[in-house]
Amino acid sequence: MTSKKIRVCPRCGSQRIHTAKSAVSGWLVPDTYYCDDCKYSGPVYVEVEVDDAEQLRKVINGEASEA
Ligand SMILES: [Zn+2]
Repeated sequence: MTSKKIRVCPRCGSQRIHTAKSAVSGWLVPDTYYCDDCKYSGPVYVEVEVDDAEQLRKVINGEASEA
């Protein structure tokens, strides 16, 4: 069984999160992450296993259907 980890948005759980590419090289600047879905931007992201990503998204959005 393989478990691949992916980055997801800490706000909405979307997998459409990406880092900003800085045009400045040679400077140590913190990465900023942007979410395409909720427009989150910030220095943190959530890393989860692929199998857990959908469940996380549901929990964040209050869609969890488990009793
Ligand atoms: Zn988001």
